[in-house]
Amino acid sequence: MSISENLEKFNKELPDSVTLVAVSKTKPVSDLMEAYNKGQRIFGENKIQEMEAKWQEMPKDIQWHMIGHVQRNKVKYMAPFVSLIHAVDSLKLLKEINKEAEKNQRTIACLLQIKIAEEDSKFGMDEADAENLLFSEELRKLQNIKIVGLMGMATFTDDEKQISEEFKKLKKIFDTFKAKAQKLEKTFEILSMGMSSDYKLAIENGSNMVRVGSAIFGERNYN
Ligand SMILES: *Cc1c(COP(=O)(O)O)cnc(C)c1O
Repeated sequence: MSISENLEKFNKELPDSVTLVAVSKTKPVSDLMEAYNKGQRIFGENKIQEMEAKWQEMPKDIQWHMIGHVQRNKVKYMAPFVSLIHAVDSLKLLKEINKEAEKNQRTIACLLQIKIAEEDSKFGMDEADAENLLFSEELRKLQNIKIVGLMGMATFTDDEKQISEEFKKLKKIFDTFKAKAQKLEKTFEILSMGMSSDYKLAIENGSNMVRVGSAIFGERNYN
């Protein structure tokens, strides 16, 4: 199936409450433009410089999401335009994003990445560290960022039960933080979980933002 057909299928299938991030990493601008011409306006990339190059070249009504691990020294390249950073996992990184956002007179929305997978390779914070950070005095001082939700990745496995359990765990943490945030009148509403292989399970378990790459654009070739 073509990119347009895949996208059409997702737009029909996903509930209105779920935002689709089209993950376009490694794909050429022509592929992204095919999705754009079908109405897609949210694209996810995992390399800051690749995202910046695509931003330069493409229409300016696109919302660019950084979904990959962020190196602090590269934040400056995306600070002028990035619309959501999904994988924030330290105060140090938030301070850098805040500094660069301020230079650009912007407020940058971020998600905290929570580690839910069993493998060691996955980045992210545990619940206690995330909670301490989210409701800290330090965070309140950072006026040019806002944390609007959580992101997580399940273990790479065929075991659907395990994946569901991990998503359930993240949803529970999200609900807990959201209730606390509401008391402080803070916006905390995005739960980014689910990719090509597990987006259905993620939605069943409360995701409202899915990051889908290969099921839209086809398999990636990293050469
Ligand atoms: C690449 C990537 C995705 C999309 O993966 P697919 O399996 O191609 O849908 C989602 N989230 C993150 C963080 C990624 O790096």
